Amino acid sequence: MNNQTTVTENQKAVQEAFTQAQARSIRRSLDYQQLSLYKDVNPLDWEDWHWQLKHRIRSKDELAQVIKLTSEEEAGIKKASGRLSMAITPYWATLIDQNDANCPLRRQAVPVISESVIGPHEMIDPCAEDRDSPAAHLVHRYPDRVLLLATEHCAMYCRHCTRRRLVGEHQESNAASRFDAAVEYIKSNRKIRDVLISGGDPFIMEDEEIEDLIKRISSISHVEFLRIGTRTPVTLPQRITDKLVTMLKKYSPLWISIHFNHPKEITKRCKIACDMLADAGIPLGSQTVLLKGINDRPYIMKRLMHELLKIRVRPYYIYQCDPVKGTQHFRTPVAVGINIMEKLRGHTSGYAVPVYVVDGPGGGGKIPVGPNYILSQAKGKYVLRNYKGKIYTYLE
Ligand SMILES: *Cc1c(COP(=O)(O)O)cnc(C)c1O
Ligand code: SF4
Repeated sequence: MNNQTTVTENQKAVQEAFTQAQARSIRRSLDYQQLSLYKDVNPLDWEDWHWQLKHRIRSKDELAQVIKLTSEEEAGIKKASGRLSMAITPYWATLIDQNDANCPLRRQAVPVISESVIGPHEMIDPCAEDRDSPAAHLVHRYPDRVLLLATEHCAMYCRHCTRRRLVGEHQESNAASRFDAAVEYIKSNRKIRDVLISGGDPFIMEDEEIEDLIKRISSISHVEFLRIGTRTPVTLPQRITDKLVTMLKKYSPLWISIHFNHPKEITKRCKIACDMLADAGIPLGSQTVLLKGINDRPYIMKRLMHELLKIRVRPYYIYQCDPVKGTQHFRTPVAVGINIMEKLRGHTSGYAVPVYVVDGPGGGGKIPVGPNYILSQAKGKYVLRNYKGKIYTYLE
């Protein structure tokens, strides 16, 4: 504990950011003080998302206070500067297994030298997002919906990030006018009924800035539906404050997609963040990237999907890891993903079964791939197999 006797303005804001019930459950979830680096941190600072951001681990020396670095990691950290530099929230650091170089949370956060290896089919922008950008910050691929990249910053930089060409710690304009062209484009395109705000991570922006953007888009009459893509409930759950949730609630229907990759990410603290969103009536979905050695075993993926349902997050997509430069060490064959889908469908609740997709390189969009259940198809007759391999004939 700090010897501070006075509560700072920031700490006061944190006290006010949660209801009393939320604050009680948060207190029960705090065990960060076990890590010596954080043993003197005041719980009100720990719960302040700005404090978490400011104290992210950015250097090899800081990280070495938390884990014993391997030589691959040391070399990787040295190379990871500029775009997708290393940044690890103190919260995430407490979840890393200090003795296991293969800890799934560690591998997602700590650069390794393999990131400098460029695989044979890897590209800077495999999904051709830059080509399909009709206005700054906007990607328009499908007829009725657009992707708005609101920021290039995130709480933590995932080593497998598909937008590593954009995302990282660099100066970026935060003038509201930077979205003018994107908003104008959406306004003038009456076919656009769905706007997905992503990035980077939109929840890295201040509440007022997010609200301003949401307000501008939701006031367009043909926009029926807004969604936000974020990883903060997983990497920085302190970001989900009562104030943020109260603001978001005003803009219903608004859906949130959260990036989850491993069951260990679903901590008590993460559950509180998701509960706050779900209690506000915000539907939650998950997006998962299939990652070698992290979640490429069917039993781990199944456990992740079950844990997600328990915190009211509906599994939405599993992505084949895009062929982005420097991610070869994370990529599995497509057959691994298909086998995972085979082990899910029928074997567990349908709600626990997401769709496995490959984003078509060159801008094809998300293409579902999965086991084949149609054995033969003739006029008026389908021969099908079920999840156990038993064969059934359906006559039309
Ligand atoms: C993923 C994505 C969307 C949203 O796709 P859904 O399948 O509707 O979730 C929209 N635009 C782009 C460019 C995308 O990559
Ligand atoms: S949160 Fe998303 S955008 Fe940010 S680094 Fe991770 S994968 Fe990339």
